[in-house]
Amino acid sequence: MTDQPPICPCGRTTELRDGAHVYGRPDLAFKHFWCCEPCDMRVGCHPGTTTPLGQLAGPKVRALRMEAHALLDPLWKTAEKWYTSPPLPASRIKSIRSIARRRVYRWLALQLGATTEEIHIAGSDEATCRAIIQALQNVDYGRIRKEVH
Ligand SMILES: [Zn+2]
Repeated sequence: MTDQPPICPCGRTTELRDGAHVYGRPDLAFKHFWCCEPCDMRVGCHPGTTTPLGQLAGPKVRALRMEAHALLDPLWKTAEKWYTSPPLPASRIKSIRSIARRRVYRWLALQLGATTEEIHIAGSDEATCRAIIQALQNVDYGRIRKEVH
């Protein structure tokens, strides 16, 4: 079942494209995007669905979303460095990162006065992206780990 296509601010109905088309990468063919190609507006979909992650975005907001991810992702992807006595086994690193990811999103939701379910960088508008980027300035996982349990 395909969701209703979002309508672009220009009035056109968006069209469903895959990641191979959008990014020219066959390995991303499993991803879905609603696109208004004349406006260069698009939004990705929740995994395995055609349900939009959020609002359509042009290049400016997409760049802000990438900036937000570039600040957020390393927080949990390097979380194991906050744990003593390396080297840790791969399975332990995986579980530390998975816990850290949930904790980072919970922390971010608290900063934004939102719920964790409401934090979707890939669907965020410009104001939300800017708030996320602002919140993630000068924070490290050590602090997040102390502030969110
Ligand atoms: Zn359009």
